[in-house]
Amino acid sequence: MAPAEHRQIPNSSVVRALSIVGDGWVLRLLREAFRGVRRFSDFHERLGIPKAVLSKRLTHLVESGMFSLYEYQSVPLRHEYRLTEMGLDFWRVLLTMWDWEIRWDPDPGDMRLRLTHLDCGHESRPVSSCSHCTQPLQLADISRRPGPGQGSETMLPPRSRRRMNAGSAKSPGEPTLRSQIIRTVGDRWTPMVMGCIFRGNRRFNELEAELRIPPYILGQRLNELLELELIERRRYQEAPPRDEFLLTAKGLAQHHYTLQLMRWGDRWLAGDKGLPQLMIHNLCGHVFHADLRCSHCGEVLERERVRLL
Ligand SMILES: [Zn+2]
Ligand SMILES: [Zn+2]
Repeated sequence: MAPAEHRQIPNSSVVRALSIVGDGWVLRLLREAFRGVRRFSDFHERLGIPKAVLSKRLTHLVESGMFSLYEYQSVPLRHEYRLTEMGLDFWRVLLTMWDWEIRWDPDPGDMRLRLTHLDCGHESRPVSSCSHCTQPLQLADISRRPGPGQGSETMLPPRSRRRMNAGSAKSPGEPTLRSQIIRTVGDRWTPMVMGCIFRGNRRFNELEAELRIPPYILGQRLNELLELELIERRRYQEAPPRDEFLLTAKGLAQHHYTLQLMRWGDRWLAGDKGLPQLMIHNLCGHVFHADLRCSHCGEVLERERVRLL
């Protein structure tokens, strides 16, 4: 059998996005960058991240196109890390992740945020809606179609996670207590399992076949998702006992940020062939892109017109 990390998997903008950001430290670094942190020493101080780990993650973010290096002092030479256009465009993903956490994580730890919509001056929450017809998102109204970029590609391990082992989805040096968002997104397999269940694969063998995931990793990820109450188990056969897995309301709600990950991956990582998959909004019949609207005034949130703290 080929090693788990070199198998062919269906093209997916979400998986491509996760190959860049599917890491707890990377998500925290991006959050700090949106709060205005730019220098190595400040990242180190704010996050308590070991220097060697920080250095690797920053290099990864520069090589991935999320940060650019900007020289702010020549003697001695010092650089700071600035979000590129691609990095800045990630704001909708972070916003929807944080919002999910406020709603569903009783102890969100270090991933909390406050969003102010500068146009109306109010504290706000993002509301997902169709960019074409402006209706709020209902998951049942979305269907999927293969896009021009459908096909398969080799699943490469993200640079920062090449040492991953099945027993731990933690990055080196990460605190033991982690927010639920980082437990579910800071590891690439977990969101892939969630996505696969969402698409209607409920049984262990279906998930294993669809994802081509080693059974011991699948079992471990399912247990973690059960513990987080993102999925629930239902027995469909008594002898021998067989269970299937369903998303809970909490698990389903993660789709708001999955759609943003997809939108971001579609824009920045689609390549020449085009989008791997299209989402169709059944209400209006158009390709669905999730806009975020202000929960207070209802207008579309634009990056320059929000403040994240
Ligand atoms: Zn629509
Ligand atoms: Zn507003």
